[in-house]
Amino acid sequence: MLKRYEKFLEKLDKRLEKYFEEQCEFIKCNPGCSACCEVGEYPFSRLELEYLMSGFVELPFGTKHIIKEEIKRLKKEHPKLYKCPFLINNMCSVYKYRGIVCRTHGLAWYDEEANRIRLPYCVNVGLNYSKVFDRETGEVFLQNPIRERLRIDTILRSPEAQEYKLECGEIRPLINWF
Ligand code: SF4
Repeated sequence: MLKRYEKFLEKLDKRLEKYFEEQCEFIKCNPGCSACCEVGEYPFSRLELEYLMSGFVELPFGTKHIIKEEIKRLKKEHPKLYKCPFLINNMCSVYKYRGIVCRTHGLAWYDEEANRIRLPYCVNVGLNYSKVFDRETGEVFLQNPIRERLRIDTILRSPEAQEYKLECGEIRPLINWF
């Protein structure tokens, strides 16, 4: 199953890469910027978690220890929003194995059901799409938003996911898997 999921991710990554290119005038993502991983819930399906943990087991002992301690702390304090425990020194320690939500971080897309544009969190700190967002009124002046629903439940139920026969299982905030 993980092999099929990897193939599926290759296709998804290509599509997302194209979106990042198309939207490049609004994107301020830079190496070392980890704003997307600092405040969130990070919904992960069981399948994504399994993949993430297959990367975790390969990490050096010390890194694993730091992550485990951070998970323990989060489980004790259970904040709704938190810094991802896999973020170490502003870098994803399991980058290749990160979830779908991590891959879509930073993009704005049009939500047809809600008839509104979904903006990334980092618009609030003056990063992606901030030049087309009025913080006072909440208005978004984006002419050509991405027309794909970039939510993980939709992505994992897409015909493409079915083509790869993915069984993604339940979706939970990342910390609730531990
Ligand atoms: S798994 Fe990696 S990319 Fe995803 S939120 Fe955590 S640190 Fe960020």
